[in-house]
Amino acid sequence: VGEGGEITYKKIQSSQIMGSIQLGIQHAIGGLASKPERDLLMQDFMTVETTNFPHEGSNHTPAHHYSEFKFKTYAPIAFRYFRDLFGIQPDDFLMSMCSAPLRELSNPGASGSIFYLTNDDEFIIKTVQHKEGEFLQKLLPGYYLNLDQNPRTLLPKFFGLYCYQCNSKNVRLVAMNNLLPSSIKLHQKYDLKGSTYKRKANKSERQKTSPTYKDLDFMEHHTEGLFLEADTYNALIKTMQRDCRVLESFKIMDYSLLVGIHNLDEAQREKTEARKRTDSGQSDGDDAEGEPRKGLNRTRSINRQRLVAHSTAMESIQAESEPIDEEEDVPPGGIPARNARGERLLLFLGIIDILQSYRLRKKLEHTWKSMIHDGDTVSVHRPSFYAQRFLDFMAKTVFKKIPSSLKHSPSKRK
Ligand code: ATP
Ligand code: CA
Ligand code: CA
Repeated sequence: VGEGGEITYKKIQSSQIMGSIQLGIQHAIGGLASKPERDLLMQDFMTVETTNFPHEGSNHTPAHHYSEFKFKTYAPIAFRYFRDLFGIQPDDFLMSMCSAPLRELSNPGASGSIFYLTNDDEFIIKTVQHKEGEFLQKLLPGYYLNLDQNPRTLLPKFFGLYCYQCNSKNVRLVAMNNLLPSSIKLHQKYDLKGSTYKRKANKSERQKTSPTYKDLDFMEHHTEGLFLEADTYNALIKTMQRDCRVLESFKIMDYSLLVGIHNLDEAQREKTEARKRTDSGQSDGDDAEGEPRKGLNRTRSINRQRLVAHSTAMESIQAESEPIDEEEDVPPGGIPARNARGERLLLFLGIIDILQSYRLRKKLEHTWKSMIHDGDTVSVHRPSFYAQRFLDFMAKTVFKKIPSSLKHSPSKRK
């Protein structure tokens, strides 16, 4: 946060970054229309297009009143191919990204990244470090080799990599799928790694309206874990195993499973409470804590197919199960689950923050030479250790197969 309470990133006002990148993306997508669809070539992963955006506008760019800037689009043809892979039409992408102001999310992370959410809830734009941007560029061909073979995955889907340059500062941005619906209340949110070392939300995070909790908090809140039907459990764990194998193969670590929980029974009680209050003449407190944002344009994503194919949690794990009781107002695709009290839950989840490569982070230690020299055979196994611990935690502590006692709990019969 900069002077006057204005949010800044690298001393640039966030509102300026938002407006400028929308101009940049609009130009980039527009420019692609003239390039015919064709097969991907290896060099498509390396191209970078740079456009100047002067105040007064140019032949290709509109006039604007932000600071003058340059906008770089990485691998435009490759990303078009990826968007196509997930069924995203150029017009839809343009509409999502550029037709309405972006919404800034508060970031619980320590990295200082800024997150923007598109108004239709489909995409997230995250600022990333130089290293992370470079890593994504290198990762792209191999990563999408996997996504092409297996689009049913909880791995993040990247739909664009950009760099906004202003006053000799670089702001690198990735566009990816949004995992958490903002049209409904998420009663709890967790960022889980399978580690217990310092994995507790700090005080300022806990004071937020909708905090992101961590591993230790989860174990405290859900001592018995979250219960899934056997088929769903198996599909989820299988998907995570497959995904972790991909991450391990790229020596990626420090990723998390982001889990948003909507408690249907709790939501029901909240509704009844609110009704009681209105009936007794009290205001029902429209902007109550944790109330989801309901804008005019937001209704689109409720009960409607997501723009990005295979992107809901249920589709990602390729599970089929009877939909939880016909619930209007709830976005589709949450994974049905129960807590230890038998309450009906919907889980929205995915793997996030995968652009940390052990290879990059520990470059020095990681030349083969020093490894052999130090006899350091353990550190190469770190990504595999990380993946194993992550999977163990998810399969044993976080998710459980539903015991029959919960299956027939009274709340299911209504
Ligand atoms: P750090 O490196 O300090 O862990 P970061 O700045 O790299 O943090 P992430 O770990 O990527 O940030 O994400 C921080 C938070 O942002 C997550 O806990 C989650 O609440 C939210 N978030 C990240 N990615 C997504 C996504 N794809 N959809 C919805 N929310 C997301
Ligand atoms: Ca993180
Ligand atoms: Ca990070």
